[in-house]
Formats: sequence, structure tokens, C-alpha cells
Amino acid sequence: MSPDTILVAIAWPYANAPIHVGNLTGSHLPGDIVARYHRLKGDRVLMVSGTDSHGTPVTLRADAEGKPVEEVYQIFHNQFIELFQKAGISYDLFTTTHTANHFKVSQSIFLALKENGYLYTETRPQWYSPAARKFLPDRYVEGTCYLCGFEGARSDQCDQCGNVLEPEKMLNPRSKADGSVPELRDTEHFFLDLSKLEPAVANFLRARRSYMREPVLGESLGKIESEGLKPRPITRDLDWGIPVPVEGWDGKRIYVWFEAVIGYLSAAIEWAHIVDQPNAWRDWWTSPDSKSLYFIGKDNIFFHTTMWPAELMGAGEQFMRIFAGDGGYRASEGKLNLPYDVPANQFMNLEGRKISGSRNWAVWGLDFLTRYDPDSLRYYLTVNMPEMRDTDWDWAEFVARNNNELVATWGNLANRVLSFAYRNWDGQIPTPNQLRPTDKEILATIDKGVVSVGEHLSAVRLRAALGEAMRLASEVNKYLDTASPWFEIKTDKSAAGTTIYTALRAIDTLKVLFAPFLPFTCEQLHHFLGYTTPLFGVQYTEAQTDALGVHNVLRYNPDPATGKWQPSQLQPGQKLNPPAPLFKKLEASIAEIERGRLGS
Ligand SMILES: [Zn+2]
Repeated sequence: MSPDTILVAIAWPYANAPIHVGNLTGSHLPGDIVARYHRLKGDRVLMVSGTDSHGTPVTLRADAEGKPVEEVYQIFHNQFIELFQKAGISYDLFTTTHTANHFKVSQSIFLALKENGYLYTETRPQWYSPAARKFLPDRYVEGTCYLCGFEGARSDQCDQCGNVLEPEKMLNPRSKADGSVPELRDTEHFFLDLSKLEPAVANFLRARRSYMREPVLGESLGKIESEGLKPRPITRDLDWGIPVPVEGWDGKRIYVWFEAVIGYLSAAIEWAHIVDQPNAWRDWWTSPDSKSLYFIGKDNIFFHTTMWPAELMGAGEQFMRIFAGDGGYRASEGKLNLPYDVPANQFMNLEGRKISGSRNWAVWGLDFLTRYDPDSLRYYLTVNMPEMRDTDWDWAEFVARNNNELVATWGNLANRVLSFAYRNWDGQIPTPNQLRPTDKEILATIDKGVVSVGEHLSAVRLRAALGEAMRLASEVNKYLDTASPWFEIKTDKSAAGTTIYTALRAIDTLKVLFAPFLPFTCEQLHHFLGYTTPLFGVQYTEAQTDALGVHNVLRYNPDPATGKWQPSQLQPGQKLNPPAPLFKKLEASIAEIERGRLGS
């Protein structure tokens, strides 16, 4: 079977808050698991994302801290990179939207849509601050909700009644920046004519109806069929962000949601330049054989299933000509690929309540990893992943799952067999006699997992895939309980050697099945088993310089990786390395300690 070409596109985190466990299980972790699986399978994977450094959430944070917005976005961006390295989120490129390359790609999409007749301008009233002498973006205006009377509503959304609001209807408006009273003034903006693109977007979604997740279809096709699509403004009165590439539009910027989704394309282009193969991005973006998977949370479904496909279809082949200029690509060299699937996740709550960063009702990724191991985190976030409905992070359950499943079922299996082999067979894989029917049977059962776990992973059913791998680990425990090599060795060492060889081969296969989920401990196990080259490649950071300055990026070098998605080929006589436990048992008391940290 020839390798597949897979773009793993993961939601761009806003540079206004650290990343918590809900963000990780919502998008970064599922994307990483799928990318690692396809890499083991030998597929060509490009996994990209970056920091969403523009938009009012970022400028508001900078205002609140009294720091330049550029400094604030860099602080969060560098924290994201640190977390992804520590949690093993293996981006081929994690960059930012504040790069000269992303500006150029975004402006080219904008101009292609304009040329193709999908943009128009319209003048509308917007809140203006005479005190600050500028227009106030939606999030900068607070006041009383005209629907429910809540006094602390944002002009575009009310947290009390949950409704999306028409900003100019806000009662008792005040500026969030300085408390002054704004007035309505006319301002002109570009609009993306989504109503014109509605039939194309609806057809795009219908063609994916057989495999897209039900909640994703409901939020996209379902809404289009019941409410239709309305034009959306795609520029803002702001001075932070990407300039509108049209004369006379100084002082306005492209709307952050219009350009952030373009990051999936611009990051692939930046990656191709970094690896010095400037055309390589096209294998993922214009080759008809490539598949793109978008990993996002449910709050972003509209932008990925509707807005982004509309931008891609509307820009069409014009993008290539505008982007590359004369002497570049011919427009006819290809349209940009539409998303193949958008397996959006629902939300993870925390101890029965919605996660809230501002109230510190959150488990922060970097903070968590100062006390616990990354694979314990990845395990719990996968068995509890909100694939079809909201789930809950519960500290007592985290401890129980770690101890009863990760440690008791899988960790102890690997550790007791490796230690026993190392001690009794001179630090080597024992040489078996002819395999008995029970040995052959357990190996056949485990080898079938390569297919069954692989099918779940291909279809992005990650909870089912991990559950199946853990079920197979229990089968090996049952096999060992029956064969009892610890007693067998006292009467017949060569029979015990056959049992241990069989168990080690099963563990070696399970290692591959667990590897996308638990990359750190599977790499350790791989080393204990005596392999001299690693399962996976290495993550590293580097600085990139362009006309906008310096930005750090996270990268992944697949080079020394030798892991393969296949049954074990373990050789008798292979020298083992001294084993050690893969996981730590946790004290039950930590649940109360951790709950005490919440909300303070
Ligand atoms: Zn309200």
C-alpha cells in the first residue's frame, strides 16, 4: 500500500492566556496522536499550527498589563512552545500569525476573493470613543444587555443569557479601556459574501456527511439548511493585525478570524521554506491525493466548516497567481484542497464546572507537568476525551485511572516481564522452544491489534483505539497468569523462556499500539527492549527572522525515527537494557490537595 499524505491542522491558540487541559484534549493532543500514528504507518505527515497573535483578546490583555501587545503575544507564544515540547505535541511547525509570510498569504487570499467578486464594502454605525479618538472593537464595549438586562455584557455577546448581540444595540455603553462613554459613528468595512458561497459550502459538507461527526454536521450543515449564510464583516478598526491590502484602508486591519484559519496554509508554506524545498507545501495543499484533518474545539466549528472552506473556494485558482506573482506558479497549477474532515471535540469541564481561566478554575498544562508525568496526562486526557459529548476532569478519577489502568494493567506487565527476563536470562531476550498453541494464540490476538487499533485511529476514534490497546494488555496479563513463568522456571527453565519470549514479543507489539498515546514511556520501553534507534524523531526549537522581527518556532525532525506500525519482529538473544518502572503510582490524597488549588 502506498503511503498517504496527511495534513494535521490544529487550532491556533490565542495569545491571551496559558493553555489548560481542556485545550489540550480539545485539539492539540488528538492531532498529535493521529500524526504519530500516521508517521509510524509510514505516511507523509505535516502537522502545523501556531499562535494566534492578533485580535482584540490579545490587545485587551496587553492593555490590562500595560505592556506592548507584541511583547504579550511573544510571552504566551514561547510558553505554548515550552508546553508542547514537554507534553510531546510533535508539530512539524508551530509558528505564529505575526510573520511576514502569513501577512502575505492572508493578503493574497483577501485579494483573490476580492477579484472573484466575493467581497463588497458597506458602511455601518460602530461605537467610537471621542476620548480615545478611535473606534472601539466589539470586545472593548461593555454595557447592559438589551435582551436580558445583564449589566456586565460585552457588546457582541452576553455571558448571562448566552446570546450573540448586535453591538450597536448595547444599552448604557462604556469603553472597557477607560470607562468613557462611546458614541455611534459610521465606518466602512469589507464583507465576505457568504450568501453567494452558500451553495458551494453546503455541497462541500454534504459530500462529507457519511463520515463527519454528528455534532459537527449539526453545527454546520444543519445551521446552513435552517438559517442560511449571511455576509460577514472581515475588517476591523484596529491598529494591531494584518493591514487591509487596498489603498485608502490605513488604520483598519483584517478580522482575526478571517486570517487565523489561513494559518494552516501559511504555516505549510513557511515550513517548506525552512526545510529549503519551497514547493514542498503543495504536496499537502494542491495534490488531490492529500487528506487534511482539522482538530478543533466545538466553539470553532463555524470557522472551520463554513468560513474557511468558503475562503478557499472563493479564492480559487486566483490565489496562486496573486501569491506567487509573475514568474511564479500558474493559476492552473491547482486549487487549494478543502478540509477532508473536521473531527471537532466537545468541551472538557473540571470537577463538574465549566473551565474558567479568569477564575483559575483550570488545570494549566505547564503547571501540571511540574508535578506529574506527560504520559499520565496524555492517558487521562485520551480516555476522557470529549469526542461526542462534554466530559469532566475529576482529580480522584485521574488518580484511579493512573493507578488501576496505566500502572496496574500496562506498566506492571511490561516491568515484571522485562525484570524477570533481565535477571534470569543474562540480560537477553530468551531463545524459545517451538511455540505452543497458547503462545501462538496470544501472539495472534495481539498482532490483530495492529489492524483493529489502526482502524480506530484512522477514523479518529481515539478513545476506542486506546481502550482496545488496554484490553489487549489485559489479555497478555491473563496469558501470564495461566502460564506462570515465575513458577515454571523452577522446574523447566526452557519452557519458562518460551513463555517470557512470547510475552516480550506481545509487549513489543503493544508498545507500538500505545506509542501514539504514550510516546515518552513507549520510547523508554523501546530502549529497555534493546533497540538502539528511537521510535520517534526529536522536537526542537529555533528562531526565524523576517521583516517583522524574530519569532521562535517548534519543529520536529523525523530523521532517526524507526518505529513501524507492525507486529513485533523481536529477535531471540537481543541484549536488553536494565529496566525500570514506566509509570508512578499516585497517592489518593493528591485529589484533595489539587482540588484545594482550584478557584483561588
Ligand atoms: Zn443577556
